[in-house]
Amino acid sequence: MPSTLHDLVHRANMELASSGLVMGTFGNLSAVDRDAGLFVIKPSGVPYNQLTPAHMVAVSLATGEVLDSDLRPSSDTPTHLELYRAFGCGAIVHTHSEFATMFAQTRTPIRCMGTTHADYFRGDVPVTRPMTRNEVQTRYEANTGHVIVERFRDSGLSPDDIPAVLVANHGPFAWGPDAFKAIENARVLEYVARLDWRARVMAPDASAPDPWLVEKHYLRKHGPKAYYGQ
Ligand SMILES: [Zn+2]
Repeated sequence: MPSTLHDLVHRANMELASSGLVMGTFGNLSAVDRDAGLFVIKPSGVPYNQLTPAHMVAVSLATGEVLDSDLRPSSDTPTHLELYRAFGCGAIVHTHSEFATMFAQTRTPIRCMGTTHADYFRGDVPVTRPMTRNEVQTRYEANTGHVIVERFRDSGLSPDDIPAVLVANHGPFAWGPDAFKAIENARVLEYVARLDWRARVMAPDASAPDPWLVEKHYLRKHGPKAYYGQ
């Protein structure tokens, strides 16, 4: 029996499919129910136009094993699992959206150059280190999660403050408190990547905004004293 979470993850995957962020089958979304100890994700190998809530696959947070489905979950499932274990987010989106993927492929952080970026991301969106041969050849998808977690931990970044990352030579992951917020973050990520690309072309030496402007925009929308758009 598909649960409410299966319904929601189905709806959110359909929204992601029509968002323009997904090229071909390069996209997946999951959402977690921490009380139930599981997350639900798109299956692998079922075309978007045939997906129903019953196709969504539940996976155990404790073991990573599939619960209650004959379908295989998305091949990126071990990456989602590692992120849920390390971060407090409620949903995760992965796409190969054009501009964010371009920054990932060139291992270039998306710079925070203005308030559109600062409304969603409290600083530059970071890039992971390239993965070693061993990391790629063994447990590749889980290791993709590890290098993301390492990137945040080693540089003292908070995944709540910067709800996205660029996996080197691969593409973006974004997350949020729920599935639709995660999609919104993925959409804005793509938009600010496009803006930063154009800013780099138009004025390579343009200055970054002052930190107080970035903080003002981030904190009026997020955190305990948020007041914007409430
Ligand atoms: Zn991918």
